[in-house]
Amino acid sequence: MIDEMTSILEVDNLVKYFPIRKGILGRVVGYVRAVDGVSFSIRENETFSLVGESGSGKTTIARCVLGLLKPTSGKIFFMGKDVTRLSKEEAKWYRRNVQAVFQNPFLSLNPRMKVEDIVAEPLKVHYKDMPKEEVKKHVYELLEKVGLTADLAKRSPYDLSGGQAQRVAIARAVILKPKLIVLDEPTSALDVSVQAQILNLLVDLKNELKLSYLMISHDLSVVRYISDWVAVMYLGKIVELAPTEELFEKPLHPYTQALLSSVPEPDPYLMRKKKRIVLRGEPPSAVNPPPGCRLHPRCPYATEVCGKIEPKLVEYERDHWVACHLYARK
Ligand code: SF4
Repeated sequence: MIDEMTSILEVDNLVKYFPIRKGILGRVVGYVRAVDGVSFSIRENETFSLVGESGSGKTTIARCVLGLLKPTSGKIFFMGKDVTRLSKEEAKWYRRNVQAVFQNPFLSLNPRMKVEDIVAEPLKVHYKDMPKEEVKKHVYELLEKVGLTADLAKRSPYDLSGGQAQRVAIARAVILKPKLIVLDEPTSALDVSVQAQILNLLVDLKNELKLSYLMISHDLSVVRYISDWVAVMYLGKIVELAPTEELFEKPLHPYTQALLSSVPEPDPYLMRKKKRIVLRGEPPSAVNPPPGCRLHPRCPYATEVCGKIEPKLVEYERDHWVACHLYARK
């Protein structure tokens, strides 16, 4: 879907179903189809974002990439290696190269540890022989790089503000110089005034350390600011995928159009000009997704075929992919 030669991560037809169990024997009576055949690639030094409402499957994909969930089927390749079949040594290499920053830094940082120990921990795990002084030098250089003063190093993360704590989480994620970082709503728990600073830090680090990001977010303005590519998800499937500006300037899929039309414009004139696309009702359950196009019970443009045949994700224009019968000319 994106140039495979330089891709660092490839997700190929990923499926993740969660069984629903009932009774004392735990009989499986159905499945939540959280992710249902998703494919995409992330290139070196690019940010790829997955957006969609809660329940769209984006967080489940992130967890599969991080190895926190085992896919039901499909493959995930990192630098050409199938990450669902790594040897012990390769798994260590993978954990060194793929890191994560989560939404709430206070939940992801150990309150009993000092900031300097939290940031040093990955080095101590992966480079056991590194002299203490060298570890300390790396930690203090990095604290400075992420905008934290040395006097905070001896404190608990609970003595810090939300923005400072997230900087600690980012320092811990980059200290091993990984290739890919999964950013799971990294600014949504922060004050609006701090969000821009954290996003700028992430962009600076990406450029300086040649990182790639897989970003999970429901915040379209954050996604537009940070991403090179955006995939829009609905009920476990990608419905549109394109370079960021192309997607925001020329959304094709009715679901993407509805998402974008609900974002307020700072200019009242633009707000009046904006055509609002409203979807009917609530998203259906991922246990029994509708047949055909999963959006059809809510889509203002649905026709008979939409309820019968599932539209394929096709490249409608160069690099712009969409899954909708309105664009079925190819
Ligand atoms: Fe709407 Fe039909 Fe397109 Fe689905 S395939 S988004 S129901 S027009």
